Amino acid sequence: MIQQAKTILKNTFGYDDFRPLQQEIIGNILRRKDTLVIMPTGGGKSLCYQIPAMMFEDLTVVVSPLISLMKDQVEQLTALGVGAVVLNSTLSFEEYGQNISRILRNDVRLLYLAPETLLMPKTLAMLSSRRVDCIAIDEAHCISEWGHDFRPEYRQLVEVKKQFPKAVCVALTATATPRVQKDIQTCLNFEATNAFIASFNRKNLFLQIVQKASPVLQTIEFIKKFPNQPGIIYCLARKQVDDLTTTLTKAGFSVKPYHAGLPDNERRRNQECFIRDDVQIMTATIAFGMGINKPNIRFVLHYDLPQNIESYYQQIGRAGRDGLRAHCLLLFGYSDIHKIKYFINQKADKEKRTAITHLSALIGMAETGDCRRIPLLTYFGEKYAKPKCGMCDNCASGEQTLCDLSIPAQKFLSCMKRCDEMFGAEHIIDVLRGGKTQKVMKFSHQNLSTYGIGKEYSKQEWFYLSRQLLQKGLMIQDMEHGALKLMPKAWEVLRGKELFLGKMEVKPEPPFPVKESENTYDNIYDQALFKRLREMRKELADTTNVPPYVIFPDKTLIEMATFFPQSPENLRHLHGVGSIKLERYGHYFLAIITEYCKGRHVPEKSKSILNPDDIILEKAAKRRFIVIGEAYNLGKTVTELAADYNVKQNTIISHLYNFISEGYSLRSDDEFLTLSSLTSNQQSAVLETYDRLGSEQLKPVFDALNEKVCYDELHLLRLYYLSGARDQETGDRTNGLAQRHDDT
Ligand code: ADP
Ligand code: ZN
Repeated sequence: MIQQAKTILKNTFGYDDFRPLQQEIIGNILRRKDTLVIMPTGGGKSLCYQIPAMMFEDLTVVVSPLISLMKDQVEQLTALGVGAVVLNSTLSFEEYGQNISRILRNDVRLLYLAPETLLMPKTLAMLSSRRVDCIAIDEAHCISEWGHDFRPEYRQLVEVKKQFPKAVCVALTATATPRVQKDIQTCLNFEATNAFIASFNRKNLFLQIVQKASPVLQTIEFIKKFPNQPGIIYCLARKQVDDLTTTLTKAGFSVKPYHAGLPDNERRRNQECFIRDDVQIMTATIAFGMGINKPNIRFVLHYDLPQNIESYYQQIGRAGRDGLRAHCLLLFGYSDIHKIKYFINQKADKEKRTAITHLSALIGMAETGDCRRIPLLTYFGEKYAKPKCGMCDNCASGEQTLCDLSIPAQKFLSCMKRCDEMFGAEHIIDVLRGGKTQKVMKFSHQNLSTYGIGKEYSKQEWFYLSRQLLQKGLMIQDMEHGALKLMPKAWEVLRGKELFLGKMEVKPEPPFPVKESENTYDNIYDQALFKRLREMRKELADTTNVPPYVIFPDKTLIEMATFFPQSPENLRHLHGVGSIKLERYGHYFLAIITEYCKGRHVPEKSKSILNPDDIILEKAAKRRFIVIGEAYNLGKTVTELAADYNVKQNTIISHLYNFISEGYSLRSDDEFLTLSSLTSNQQSAVLETYDRLGSEQLKPVFDALNEKVCYDELHLLRLYYLSGARDQETGDRTNGLAQRHDDT
């Protein structure tokens, strides 16, 4: 039976493999065991009942609370050639009648309806006239009073279930709390052993949290990295949504707002534009997102702090449902904490305490220097086993490049002291940088000895430093008022008894560090072809009046622009190409690819040999260092490469290190030495230490040199060391000496 399910997976959906737990769940449903499915958004829940529905003789009834979701599912199934209809109050009389007669004719596999509709006597009467094989309860947390979205009608489904004793029941939700899970099982009388709980780790989401410094600028820099790619920007307040929409529109971006203050029809229109790729970016309050199934959202930017980890997780969860990489950036501002506290303070006592605990968990995640997935998944009761995920800013920043920041730390801490430990970071920074703000004037802080002594660093850099002072416990922030207070450790640094080691890598432009490797696919597929394929998809979508992703997901188009298939047989192998879609849409895309390749002599590549997932998802990141390594070997300098790729020099250095670690060799000359600012004595000391201790781990080398040489230098000299330039040079030098000898 599972074999048949696999065949359907490829033939109808065009997918090669099941996602985690899908196969087990499908097997369980086919054995007619009531099943609870807990999977994060994008985990692939729908397929779990859709495939059995296609194998059962009779109808599968899907109960769903949201009209937009039902409509979306039916559109997707219809495009796949699977009979599915919806019954709800928005249908016209004729449509309703047509759908009913299709059901009675046994012409559909799946019927989607809202619980209210199912509970209507006439619906029940109609359904009892034939057998129902499966009842799928989507968003099953609505059944639980403990859930965030309790719906009384859902409770009554328990009775409905009894009326279809032969039907197997499957309940699905993305809500992770054990209490809700238990509640669903109890209500529906499920056996505890038939619960399938997937990991909540969404591996394809890159998580980044940076200090909110100049949010508008940060936002623009960020979204510039995603030309034409859909994304959501979440703000706390409606006004912020409106303002940001105006600003971004003026800056030339394609943006529309979404919040509860807009008239219903405008809100709906904006959402529709977004879903149909007519507008690229949604700026929205948390009101946006329920009932959005768009699988290709490539970024979620939190302009303001979300209320807690749960809402953060829910909101970032809307990105990357298609399994391709998506980027989630949170701008973390201490002043936002106070806004949220203000909301929290209006709650009743008990609620207030829970809300504060939840907020602290979020702050903890923002301030951690470790992998962000650890606090995130811990919050959901899941243990994250790996020390590093490689898909968050902390993990991706690699080895900590710690530098001696004692002097700026002393400046900051003593300025706090001079300001009587009564102010937050922003004001301290204004004083340090000699700002003439109202607050500075009001407290006459322009007369302090620390006024204007910190102009050498930008505001962002100072913020960055202040976060590290907090993280390392040199100061704490008073949660009520936001004032910074000195801790005993601070005095050690102030008195010069302890060094303060930290990072100061934020450049003023761009205002936050983003790894270039995030645009994973850039080098891999043919962008120009992809653009044409996208246009074709949009055209087909508009003529059939469905969102573009219903025609083909992005991944299919990416594969087309990677393998250039020019026959139906080859197109068939691609992700998302089932037989019906191949027949309906294949020729449109083949025509474009053939035409494109003809003039360019681009050969067709076989997907089976190349294994696209490897190429697209993993090799892409790898390839970048190979490309860079090769360019370096052809004579490019590190500075030139940094400019070519619009990244920091350090990033190039780390690519070159990867290159060498993978067994390639590097051009050996003194390029790395010229970039080093150490004296030649110091350089020799470092190289000798590498001789002694090896170069794999930098920490021992750093320690052996009494923490006097910063990591940036160690990285540089390690490359010099590994490139073999030194050996060659000593060789040259000896030769040179020998020659000179000869001359004399
Ligand atoms: P959920 O309901 O859990 O949020 P969906 O059922 O909407 O997730 O699935 C998310 C996306 O993943 C959809 O675009 C779906 O077609 C796709 N998908 C589901 N299962 C697979 C699979 N086995 N292989 C590839 N893509 C899949
Ligand atoms: Zn991580």
